[in-house]
Amino acid sequence: MEKFRNDIMKTIIEKYRRIWAVTHCISLMGWDSETYMPREGIRERSVANAEMSTLYQELLLKEEFVSLVERASGKDDLNPYEAGTIRVLKREITKMKKLPPELVYELEKTTSEAFQVWRVSREENKFDPFVPYLKKIIELNREMANKLGYDDNPYDALLDLSEEGLRTRDIKSIFDNLSPALKGILGRVDSEGYFSKRHELDGIKYDESAMKRVNDRVLELLHYPRNRARIDVSPHPFTVGFGLNDVRITTRYEGYDFKRSLFSTIHEFGHATYELQIDNELDMTPIGTGASLGIHEGQSRFWENVVGRSPPFAGLIKPLLDSELKITANYGAEELYRYFASVRPSLIRTEADEVTYNLHIALRFNLELKLINGELSVEELPQAWAETSESLLGVKPRNYADGVLQDVHWSHGSFGYFPTYTLGNVVASMIARKIANDIGKVQDLISENGIVEIKNYLKSNLHSFGATYAPKDLLQRVFGYTYNPSDLVHYLEKKYIEKSAY
Ligand code: MG
Repeated sequence: MEKFRNDIMKTIIEKYRRIWAVTHCISLMGWDSETYMPREGIRERSVANAEMSTLYQELLLKEEFVSLVERASGKDDLNPYEAGTIRVLKREITKMKKLPPELVYELEKTTSEAFQVWRVSREENKFDPFVPYLKKIIELNREMANKLGYDDNPYDALLDLSEEGLRTRDIKSIFDNLSPALKGILGRVDSEGYFSKRHELDGIKYDESAMKRVNDRVLELLHYPRNRARIDVSPHPFTVGFGLNDVRITTRYEGYDFKRSLFSTIHEFGHATYELQIDNELDMTPIGTGASLGIHEGQSRFWENVVGRSPPFAGLIKPLLDSELKITANYGAEELYRYFASVRPSLIRTEADEVTYNLHIALRFNLELKLINGELSVEELPQAWAETSESLLGVKPRNYADGVLQDVHWSHGSFGYFPTYTLGNVVASMIARKIANDIGKVQDLISENGIVEIKNYLKSNLHSFGATYAPKDLLQRVFGYTYNPSDLVHYLEKKYIEKSAY
């Protein structure tokens, strides 16, 4: 089927190609900066990046293009792909128009300094030097919220930047349901001891080149298409798509506790699979990308946690682990699974397991909301962090680096981003439930052929649409409901308390 039929839509898609090409270059430069660029290259790269971003804005806001989009948006005979394209373009144009260039410049300038200060502050475990920067960033975020506009709460405007249509009340209702349930599960897992016991493999060193071969072979098992995708190494694993036929992931090698590298790889594979399974006809159009950050994270978490951290997956990859890594040879598949799925409250979000992870997000949401609403000052933040952490996770940081300074996000100016991680975990569990209903329990499907079946199912039911539908509409169409925290609670109870298939 030809997706863009209206003449005006054909013109828009054709004109958009130049804008898309700029985003292609920006992504490529970004990937290169994180992987192969020599460190000093950052000087030229940041200039090139700023220039390209300006060019993007100029092309998008060209009068001719904007008026085409406005004219098309008045038409009532658009098909879903055409309507989706207009929705995405209007959203982007409105955002660009509402945010004055001085404000964007001020935020970029502040955050690039703030990032450096944050890095040193974290290393030296000092909060004071970061205080004025965080204050300024919060002030600029509030100003941004005011320019963008909101109904109930300035935080809504910031949430909407990360996840179209997401509101503070949505997140509040998710955590009202989730936090007590997660604390309950954590308590039971802890008293039972099976998943919470320390595992020897946590501390065992591995050979990096052997681990690289493991990741390659796991990707092969997952049918990662090497003619359209790559894997490289970077300090912080990520996924980037330059188009629908060139998607790249990265992973990292800590040198010990091999599950970290393995599950980073599988996580990013999940992100990449989403991009790779979007209908190729949407390539180089505004909707040839994932529907939102939350739905994207849902794909990565599904593969990482629901598929990867499961007894059958441990069994499936045990032979290749034994032959490449050797260090796993003494452990049976069940022992490997217990290592993959260990659960323990910790201070650091990025190291958190799937039971405690969302409590880390609840903590950040709670504090962000108060900071943006002026109910908490930056000076009071470390104390508030410690108290909230104690009440949610039962642990309290003894220094700033393990507490208020652990995440990069605030120094980057990102407020309203953290909740999308929890949306991702919720969406992953919704996918598990839907697959169980439609084709069989995920755990029962895990085999070489079953993996293909799962991928095909996700492609036709979810991935192929790209950003055609707004995230809540997409969820409604696919699942019959939107972000449902009860699915996550149910999945975690089955897995960690009943120890049964989901
Ligand atoms: Mg992710």
